[in-house]
Amino acid sequence: MTSDPPGNPLLPSVESASPPLPSPDPALLQAVVRPEIAAMAAYPVPSSQGLLKLDAMENPYPLPEPLRQALADRLGAVALNRYPAPAYRELKSAITRQLGVHPGAALVLGNGSDELITLLSVLTARPGACVLSPVPSFVMYELSARLAGSRFVGVDLRDDFSLDPGAMLAAIERERPALIWIAYPNNPTGNRFDDEAIAAIVAAAPGLVVIDEAYQPFAQASWMPRLADFPNLLVLRTVSKLGLAGLRLGYLAGAPGWIEQIEKVRPPYNINSLTEAAALFALEHIEVLRSQADALRTARRTMHEQLGRLPGVRPFASQANFVLARMPDGPAIFRALRERGILVKDVGKMHPKLVDCLRLTVGTPDENARLFAALMSLLPGRP
Ligand SMILES: *Cc1c(COP(=O)(O)O)cnc(C)c1O
Repeated sequence: MTSDPPGNPLLPSVESASPPLPSPDPALLQAVVRPEIAAMAAYPVPSSQGLLKLDAMENPYPLPEPLRQALADRLGAVALNRYPAPAYRELKSAITRQLGVHPGAALVLGNGSDELITLLSVLTARPGACVLSPVPSFVMYELSARLAGSRFVGVDLRDDFSLDPGAMLAAIERERPALIWIAYPNNPTGNRFDDEAIAAIVAAAPGLVVIDEAYQPFAQASWMPRLADFPNLLVLRTVSKLGLAGLRLGYLAGAPGWIEQIEKVRPPYNINSLTEAAALFALEHIEVLRSQADALRTARRTMHEQLGRLPGVRPFASQANFVLARMPDGPAIFRALRERGILVKDVGKMHPKLVDCLRLTVGTPDENARLFAALMSLLPGRP
């Protein structure tokens, strides 16, 4: 180096910072980190560099070019030197109007619905508290419950992935859960649970029941109107699967008396100003996202049909933007697809009932055709 760059004289130069930092003493780690966390593995997000990404239920369609330009202008005008206005009033009313929120409901916003899952877990955690959900379902319910210090109880779905109301009601009676999660449609199985069975669960629950409608744009059914029928019901949604996964914006709808409590757990500026501005913009153009969701529903039907024609493959009916399918040898097909440049999700180890199952995100017709061609070459069958 010939000359030092101008800068803060208090910051060390690169040279003086180059020795590695000391690793923490194992005894110190053990004394500081909660043992259940030390024993956990971090949530794995595999690298998808250069791969066709059909693993994470992302909408494959970007915003059309003219809208991207207009969005850039909008974002350029955001006052980044200021904290966001804490109540997010304008964004909440746009969500209520454009996304069909119950008019009597209050909203709390989250940095993705993942954050709202964390906040509800924190809200309800106390020694001995139980969080319950059917399994297999969304993994964050269990992870968040455990991080918050609650007990998690999973109740097996039936072999066809329908709810087992008898087992759910027995578990509710036995465990008295503070919080019950019901993903509707369910991830990773793709089906919607029976409404009567859910109603019986909500009626029997001694605590909160949250219906997680992450896939509502693809399902054309919602529990939102039923907020009026049950005092212990909340509805959770996200804009992620609709095509805005990068924004990180989820919303929880319910009676103001509940939302007021959850607001106490929310970090005050959890939705940043760029997310707020971009979400407002996207909601002004909601018809674009809706027509993308329509296209994905059509593509889902084709994907399900094609999978059903492959020998030994059993696709399950889906109301979401993915299809779960049991393969002759799930792990082998997963690896072979990756070698062919296609990344899907191997859910086979998540639960015994998912052995050999892969979860395939619905992409564009071209992407789905590539996936189908690869599967055909791996499982040659009737054309
Ligand atoms: C994807 C997903 C979420 C998380 O969505 P974000 O808003 O992106 O955090 C929540 N629930 C279910 C069931 C999901 O599949």
